[in-house]
Amino acid sequence: MNWNSQDLKDSLTFFVFVAVTALCLSFTISIMVYRGVLIADPYTFVVANLFVSSCVAIPTATIASQHEFQLRRYQRQLESIASMDPLTGLLNRRFFRFAAEEELARQKRTGTVAAIALFDLDKFKAINDRYGHQAGDEVLKRVAEIVYAELRGPFDKFGRWGGEEFVLMLSNVTEADAGVILERVRERLASTIIEAGQNPVTITASFGFAMMHEGAQFDDVVKAADDALYRSKGRGRNCVTAATSGLRAA
Ligand code: GH3
Ligand code: MG
Ligand code: MG
Repeated sequence: MNWNSQDLKDSLTFFVFVAVTALCLSFTISIMVYRGVLIADPYTFVVANLFVSSCVAIPTATIASQHEFQLRRYQRQLESIASMDPLTGLLNRRFFRFAAEEELARQKRTGTVAAIALFDLDKFKAINDRYGHQAGDEVLKRVAEIVYAELRGPFDKFGRWGGEEFVLMLSNVTEADAGVILERVRERLASTIIEAGQNPVTITASFGFAMMHEGAQFDDVVKAADDALYRSKGRGRNCVTAATSGLRAA
């Protein structure tokens, strides 16, 4: 699990907080216990107590910080497991929805528009029937990798919608941009040879997309993209259809 600079900063703050608290506590107790010595020799008292208090405070803070480190690590692992589709490592449907809701909230500030695309592998059942379910799983993993490599890093979100259906969110794009990106993804997928078990296969996908404007309902956008996807299937598969026009985009 990777640490980011915010984790480090938070953990250091936590360490300092625990250390200072333990130091103050220990120092106060010492004052109460040794107030007789304080009156006799304040300088020796302060030095001796700082030393003794540090001996208590630093190990306490170290142990507490380690504990905090570990909790953070577990929390991050849990978040990652909860958000991930176990087969492909993509976002699962639930977390894709979170990402889309976040995008909608961001759109209120930025005024940008995103595209939601669904794509479904063509005649995928035939791959399973011919090479087995496990080979089918390998194909799904490779499809995820191939498509992921075509996306624009953190700007796009990619999830598994279910089965052999995937979902994409392209932020800050026009409908024409989205059409171009999806056409590139479609073309890349169709032209890549994939290993299904030991067998080289090619696979195509049918795409449908709809624009998600500020104030839109995510479910409505997905429904529009899904209808467009099924128009792609009706048009012979291996193509991209925009929800608005029903025409081949790009
Ligand atoms: P179409 O072009 O109309 O989409 O044809 P299709 O064969 O892809 O569609 P269909 O819905 O008939 O079949 C989808 C297949 O996807 C059937 C199912 O067994 C397979 N499938 C769904 N999820 C998984 C999975 O996680 N692993 C594997 N190996 N296969 C899966
Ligand atoms: Mg299919
Ligand atoms: Mg399907």
